[in-house]
Amino acid sequence: MRVAVYPGTFDPITNGHLDIVERAAGLFDCVIIAIADENYKENLFTLEERKDLVKKVCQDIPNIEVEAFQGLLADFVQKKKAYIIIRGLRAVSDFEYEFQMSVMNKKLNRDIETVFLTAANEYTFLSSSIIKQVASLGGSIKGLVPIVVEQALEDKFAERRKRS
Ligand code: ADP
Repeated sequence: MRVAVYPGTFDPITNGHLDIVERAAGLFDCVIIAIADENYKENLFTLEERKDLVKKVCQDIPNIEVEAFQGLLADFVQKKKAYIIIRGLRAVSDFEYEFQMSVMNKKLNRDIETVFLTAANEYTFLSSSIIKQVASLGGSIKGLVPIVVEQALEDKFAERRKRS
């Protein structure tokens, strides 16, 4: 059974991520979406919220699992006996960092292969950061994130405005 891990922060999951998930699910027997629990990064959504959104968005894809991980991705991948890492590539700007990470992961564990899927044309400009920026200013993010994510962003920023 070919198991692949698709790691990321998913703060929050966008249609660009979802497109990669769906395509990866067609290529491998099982895809584990691994949500990074990085406390040095300032995330808008908590780990539980990010996990919950990913689970809701992917509930109809049968060969998807959603898990959180801490520490080295290479260790998580080995623990899961997966050995394939999926990453999405949007533009040349993604390449340098992604290349470095894939070489480093190979150095940490030579059995690990990184498979890059190129972003769909309509999502090459899309990132969680730009979504958060636009949503925080009240701009429309329709068609760029799943509806549950759109609602969660609306609620999060409404809650923040109430607090400030
Ligand atoms: P990270 O913080 O690890 O980059 P992200 O959640 O931002 O986590 O992204 C996870 C993966 O999804 C990365 O490989 C990233 O390049 C990819 N990705 C992000 N946005 C898109 C998109 N719009 N289209 C395709 N891949 C994407």
